[in-house]
Amino acid sequence: MTTTAATSQESVYRSRTPGSHEAFIRAAEVMPGVAKGAYYYAPYPVTIDRAEGCYLHDVDGNRYVDFANHHTTQILGHNHPAIMRAVERQLERGIAVAAPMGSETALAEELCRRVESLDRVRFCNSGTEATLHAIRLAREFSGRHIIAKFEGGYHGSHDAVEISVAPDPSSAGPPERPVPVRGAGGMPPNTTENVLILPQDDEAAVEALIEEHRDELAAVIFDPRTGVVPQRPAFIRAVRDITRRHGVLLIFDEIVGFRASPGGVQALCGIKPDLTAYGKIVGGGFPVGAFGGRQDLMDLLDPTLGRPRLSQSGSFSGHPVAMAAGLAMLEVLSPDVYDRLDRLTDRLMEGFRDVFARTGTAATAVASGSTFSIYFTGGPVRVYRDAAAADKRPVHGVFLSLMNRGYFLSNVLSMNCLSAAMDESHIDGLVTAMGEALEEN
Ligand code: PMP
Repeated sequence: MTTTAATSQESVYRSRTPGSHEAFIRAAEVMPGVAKGAYYYAPYPVTIDRAEGCYLHDVDGNRYVDFANHHTTQILGHNHPAIMRAVERQLERGIAVAAPMGSETALAEELCRRVESLDRVRFCNSGTEATLHAIRLAREFSGRHIIAKFEGGYHGSHDAVEISVAPDPSSAGPPERPVPVRGAGGMPPNTTENVLILPQDDEAAVEALIEEHRDELAAVIFDPRTGVVPQRPAFIRAVRDITRRHGVLLIFDEIVGFRASPGGVQALCGIKPDLTAYGKIVGGGFPVGAFGGRQDLMDLLDPTLGRPRLSQSGSFSGHPVAMAAGLAMLEVLSPDVYDRLDRLTDRLMEGFRDVFARTGTAATAVASGSTFSIYFTGGPVRVYRDAAAADKRPVHGVFLSLMNRGYFLSNVLSMNCLSAAMDESHIDGLVTAMGEALEEN
């Protein structure tokens, strides 16, 4: 991308979105720029007035086809009637009370029915909380404290896991033996002492590291990176075999997993993790987290068995509205819906391949379930370091060009996704817009 191209995309963007600019200036008077980090991109984010189906409408009256879908959550698109009805029914009964209302049991039943590895489930408010509690549980159960995670894996924002999420490869050690790198400021220097970093897509290196550290490892936490850097099913199965062989617990991060199949990535790969962390789709668009797994592990939280060895509660955990919305979303997500989404995703990936070839762009699109990411590299993207080596310069210009054409993607062009509210015309429209955006940048 040339600087002139980016500047010209930005001036078109500014001329289309004066109301969003005004909203941003007002927001920045009372918040550090934006309400949460992910909202921001330069020069300022669009402010959305309303959402319906696969469309977002901004405050200036521009319409966008939504390929972000609230960080992959809105798999059915916006305001699906089944979810709206479930939420309204719950609101009529009450918003939240300090007692179970039954909706949490119904959702837990649905999760345990869909996912073979879940004997018991607990609820919290975010994916971050889900991985935090799953890790505590694994540490308490095993009596060990080191957590192994894969380089490039994101598991939320807490000290145990915000390490080597997107490290600069030049300071992250050799590929087969990466060193831990703190992922955010404000974390004590010794947080890296409690983490072992594993390389993706390398069974031999993973086995060697786990074998070496098995006596201190509480668990391996693993996100098969749905849509960002999808891992080979054979590698996913190998991670399960290796952890089992060495007596180390496996925590599967399926916070995006219900994008892949009715039972998540684990059902597709035919594996049973010891614990699994959930979020996003499980709350139907409302704040949620959940974690669950083997009964002997989950028993550590059970107050009916005596004083629990771990505390897990939270003012808003198991919020009835989120429970009702999540159940409604899962109930609509039949195998047919997944088949249709998979077909549309295949069509999009094929369209991107043609457009990259036609425009002579060194770019690779990867997909898993109905999520996809775009990297400006000619080579395959198998591991985090392949993605890190991609050319970042075209990303912002292409993102703004797509916005100017009415397509809303993630501003880093990774972790984009489809929704069931889309049809072929939205897919083909994005492919055409991508061709134009690439020529422009
Ligand atoms: N794990 C994965 C794989 C995620 O994609 C996310 C969120 N993007 C999280 C954990 C954290 O979830 P939350 O944002 O709900 O805290």
